[in-house]
Amino acid sequence: MAPELLRFPLLAETGLVAHAFTTRRGGVSTGPAASLNMGFVAHDSPENVRANRRLVCEALGLDPVNIVAGRQVHGHNAAVVNPEDRGRGALTPEEAFPDTDILLTRESGIVLTSYYADCVPLIFLDPVVKAVALAHAGWRGTVQGVGAKCVRAMGEAFGSRPGDLLAVIGPSAGSCCYEVDEPVQTEFARVFPRWGGLFVPRGPGRWLLDLKEANRLLLADCGVRQIEVSGYCTVCRPDLFYSYRASRETGRMASLIGLV
Ligand SMILES: [Zn+2]
Repeated sequence: MAPELLRFPLLAETGLVAHAFTTRRGGVSTGPAASLNMGFVAHDSPENVRANRRLVCEALGLDPVNIVAGRQVHGHNAAVVNPEDRGRGALTPEEAFPDTDILLTRESGIVLTSYYADCVPLIFLDPVVKAVALAHAGWRGTVQGVGAKCVRAMGEAFGSRPGDLLAVIGPSAGSCCYEVDEPVQTEFARVFPRWGGLFVPRGPGRWLLDLKEANRLLLADCGVRQIEVSGYCTVCRPDLFYSYRASRETGRMASLIGLV
């Protein structure tokens, strides 16, 4: 079975990039990480991860030796990826960019990747200066404005203008399932003037949070006008996605993008 991959029309229609968000279907992993696990996790072998990455890259016409990854820490550090960085984090997690939740590049052939089980994937293309970026936005990254920091980093590194950017907010835990407690709500209230509309009460000290909408608002606030938002909730669809909320022992989906 070939890897099942999601693509986003906003990006695909440009013809400038190869990209995907992976599902859990069509790989070689077994057990809790079955089957298309893209991340180096404790309960899957590195060989399986490398095989799955090869399968996905082959399906996209990308070369897996050009994969670049960051060690995601729910922070907001950005790394500009240059030709000499090709392969960092492709075969082992140790060589990935340390403490990095934002990757950006203007080099064609480089395959930016980031890894998910419920957090919000942000994918960017600047079709004018021809640059791409990925940002990993869980709730901690979101309150730190990781999406806005990615937009700023593209501006500083490449001269990208927010109004030119195409942005995708990918599959993640949806407002139907993403239950949070008071400390999370307090953090949002502290940094987010319109936090109230993002939370729906779920019981004493519990709320449902719309993390995709929080990211959409943050991107719109910094001038991004073209935003595609995936309707998929990763918790609702265990057949299609890994979900950390559904099971602590699970695999990882990947965002991948490369300029062609
Ligand atoms: Zn859901």
